[in-house]
Amino acid sequence: MKKGKKNKNNIAKNILIFILVFFILAAMLSWSSKNSSKSSVVGLSSVALDINNEKIESIQVEGSKMAVKYKDGHEAKAIKEVNQSLSQALSDFGVDKNKMSNVKIDIKDSSESDVWMTIILPFLVPLVLIGVMLWFMMRGVQGANNKAMMFGQSGAREANPDNQVKTTFADVAGAKEAKEELMEVVEFLKAPKKFADLGARIPRGVLLLGGPGLGKTLLAKAVAGEAAVPFFSISGSEFVEMFVGVGASRVRDLFAKAKKRAPCIVFIDEIDAVGRRRGTGLGGSHDEREQTLNQILVEMDGFEPNSGVIVIAATNRPDVLDPALLRPGRFDRQVMLDAPDIADREAILKIHARQKPLADGVELRRVAERTPGFSGADLANVLNEGAILAARHNKKKIDSQELFDAIEKVILGPERKSRIITDKEKKTVAYHEAGHAVLSYFLGDANQTHKVSIISRGQAGGYTLRLPTEDKHLHSRSEYFDELGVMLGGYLAEIEVFGEMTTGASSDLQRVTELAKNMVTQFGMSDNLGPRTFGKRDDMIFLGKEIHEERDYSEKLAETIDSEVASVIKQAQEKAKGILINKRAALEKVVAVLLEKETIEKDEFAELMKEFS
Ligand code: ADP
Ligand code: ZN
Repeated sequence: MKKGKKNKNNIAKNILIFILVFFILAAMLSWSSKNSSKSSVVGLSSVALDINNEKIESIQVEGSKMAVKYKDGHEAKAIKEVNQSLSQALSDFGVDKNKMSNVKIDIKDSSESDVWMTIILPFLVPLVLIGVMLWFMMRGVQGANNKAMMFGQSGAREANPDNQVKTTFADVAGAKEAKEELMEVVEFLKAPKKFADLGARIPRGVLLLGGPGLGKTLLAKAVAGEAAVPFFSISGSEFVEMFVGVGASRVRDLFAKAKKRAPCIVFIDEIDAVGRRRGTGLGGSHDEREQTLNQILVEMDGFEPNSGVIVIAATNRPDVLDPALLRPGRFDRQVMLDAPDIADREAILKIHARQKPLADGVELRRVAERTPGFSGADLANVLNEGAILAARHNKKKIDSQELFDAIEKVILGPERKSRIITDKEKKTVAYHEAGHAVLSYFLGDANQTHKVSIISRGQAGGYTLRLPTEDKHLHSRSEYFDELGVMLGGYLAEIEVFGEMTTGASSDLQRVTELAKNMVTQFGMSDNLGPRTFGKRDDMIFLGKEIHEERDYSEKLAETIDSEVASVIKQAQEKAKGILINKRAALEKVVAVLLEKETIEKDEFAELMKEFS
């Protein structure tokens, strides 16, 4: 890394100096020529005439140039042919020999400097320029094949100066299966001979699959740390550079370095950036990516069996990877990382709370309960935000309240108390949020209302924070109907109370539509369409979202799907509306408290609802 950077800096420096020298030379040339043309230029005939009239005091000759000094003090320049002597030139113009001897003649041998300035330099400068340009171009072309090429050095980083990663499996909470899989790799790295003697073939590549922040990098480091071997890391997105061929040469360089330090770990983050399925015909510089990917494959195939270099790659898009990567002898081990469950979340929190003083009575289990779906990185962030909040409150220890506030901050973005809203708007937001909360309570929603607030956060005017009571992976049809009802709650309350809706419900409605559509087309939850799915989704990789849906059903069915989606929403809406009318008193109660206190916490909300159930 350092070397590559230095080289690049050198090139930049060289170019700069080069340009600078060029400009200085150009300036000098133009200055000297300007200087010489300062005094007036006269013809040889007038010089001869002035000599005859005894007006001239002296003449200085330098090559072809003559500086003429007059007796009245003024000066002039004249030019003669280079190879002609002065007296000869002047006598051609009929100068009087006697008068000529009265003029002081001073001949300077200037041919050297003059020849440099006027003949060689103008010829040399463009030549040198062209030469340098050619040289740079040659280097660029050679790049693809030249190992020593400066651009091509891999940006691989070794973790520590002493190459010893300090991370171990103890720093990774949860991920039990993943650790077990990787333990095998650790054992091999520790004692390669033991396996080789038995003829065992050790995997060359391990692919870590999982969403962002789930600890893929952390696990790879931990493997290196456990086995006490060097750790090289590079990110797939770094490969994609300006110059074609650089990616491939970087890969070569990286593996050359790694082989020298074997046994070791090579970690390739975001491998999907180079390892996408080839030949999709999308995106610009495919050659570059393909060459890089090919080089990775060549390197992996080229290892001696048990050479001791193990490649760990990470991606959150296994679906877009080129199948060639997954063949035996390449990334044939795949380790899946899931979002942590409640026990894992508690363990992760414990690890990250090591350096942070927690107040007595803080139970990390409570934090884990409130953070379903959080990744390890999110949880680390919660503790960090909590510490920041505590510091801002001038506390020495972090309290539960700060941690809970930190959770909300991580989910919803910071509170914006300063946003000014009119009383009318405040009332609308209060009814809207109360609608969500009351419906969540009476629909027997699987989620629990943790907080209702009319303080705006991020984009939202107010918010109702509902969190699942447990980690759930399966959802039933009735649950989804309830979910639709709760999401419609804000919209329905606004209509019920004010007779019309506002724009505040727009994102709710988007989510309602999305869910209803999935219920009908993906989960087989509609009455009339039966147990099948509609439409094959093809994810278009680099936009990161679906832009294309292959229709595998008829035009007629498409209409039915539309009307089914509408009817699912209608059904949920009717039920929710009924409850809202029935429990209007509860709605009014929540609104009154919200307008007074702006926020209602979980326990207080449950208390409020008691008298209505
Ligand atoms: P990824 O590479 O999957 O995007 P990282 O390995 O970079 O995620 O994780 C980001 C951070 O999240 C880590 O540095 C660590 O602090 C935290 N983290 C993630 N998962 C765990 C875990 N299982 N145990 C402890 N910390 C974790
Ligand atoms: Zn809403």
